[in-house]
Amino acid sequence: MTDVRRRDLIAASLAAATVIIGANSALAGPRKSWKKPAAPAIRRHGKATPKPKIIVLDAGHGGKDPGALGVHGTQEKRVVIKVAHYLQGQLQAGGRYRVVLTRTGDTFIPLRERVARAEEVKADLFLSIHADSHPDSSVRGASVYTLSEEASDREAEALAARENACDLATLNLSRHTDRVAQTLVAMSQRGTVNDSRRFAETIVDTFGKNGVRLLRHSHREAGFAVLTSPDIPAALVELGFLSNRYDEKLLTVARHQAALGRALQASVDAYFAAASATRKA
Ligand SMILES: [Zn+2]
Repeated sequence: MTDVRRRDLIAASLAAATVIIGANSALAGPRKSWKKPAAPAIRRHGKATPKPKIIVLDAGHGGKDPGALGVHGTQEKRVVIKVAHYLQGQLQAGGRYRVVLTRTGDTFIPLRERVARAEEVKADLFLSIHADSHPDSSVRGASVYTLSEEASDREAEALAARENACDLATLNLSRHTDRVAQTLVAMSQRGTVNDSRRFAETIVDTFGKNGVRLLRHSHREAGFAVLTSPDIPAALVELGFLSNRYDEKLLTVARHQAALGRALQASVDAYFAAASATRKA
C-alpha cells in the first residue's frame, strides 16, 4: 500500500474512531480543520507565544531494520509508524502543535540523524515510539524511558542496548557512553532532565487513567542514543510487547492504535498545561 493511500485510510478510520468515542471527549477532542502551522525558524524558545509547539515524533526502526518481531510475525516498524500517524493527526487537529516525523515511510534513519532532525526544527518535545519484545512471552504492558547514564535496572539496560544496536554502523559505542554523560550534564543545567522525567511520568499517568496496560515500574531510565539532545525534553515509549500474543493482537488493531494515539495526545496536552501553570505560578 502506498504511503498516501495508507494516510488516507488512517485519516478515515481516525474520523470513524472519533465518532465512536463521542462523549469520551477528554481524549477525542474537537476536530477542527487543519491549518498549516508557521515555519519553525521564527519560533523562539522560552517565550509565551501563540505559535504552535513543535513536537517531533520518532517512529522507531524502518527500512532494513524491522525492530522487534511478534509471535505472529508483526514487525515493530509497521506498528509504530501507524501510531505515530494517528498521534500526528490528533495533535495537529487542535491547531496548537506542529508535528514533525523523523520518518514518514518505511525508511531506515540512523539514530543520530533522528536527533539532528529534532534539533534542526528546534523541537519543544521529542517522543520516540516503539514496541518491545521479551524472552518471557507472558510479559505485557507499556513502559516509558528517559535518558540516564546508569540504567534503572537490567531490563532497561538491555532494552537500550537493543534499541541502540539497530544503528551500530554509525553509532560508536565507546563515544556513545561519553555522549550520554555529556548530554546529561547539559540537560541538568538546562532543566531538560526534569522536563523529560515529567513528560515520562505524565505518559504513565495518562496511560493508567485510560486503561492502557502498563509494565510494572513503568518509568525507567537508560542510555538511549535517540534521547541525546541536550535542549529537547525527550522520552521513549514502548507501547507493549510483540512477544506477548495479547499485546501483539492489540497493537495491530486500528482502534487500539488510535486509542494509544489519543492517550499520547492527552499526555502531550497535560505536559504543556502543567508547564504553563508552573510558569504562571
Ligand atoms: Zn524499538
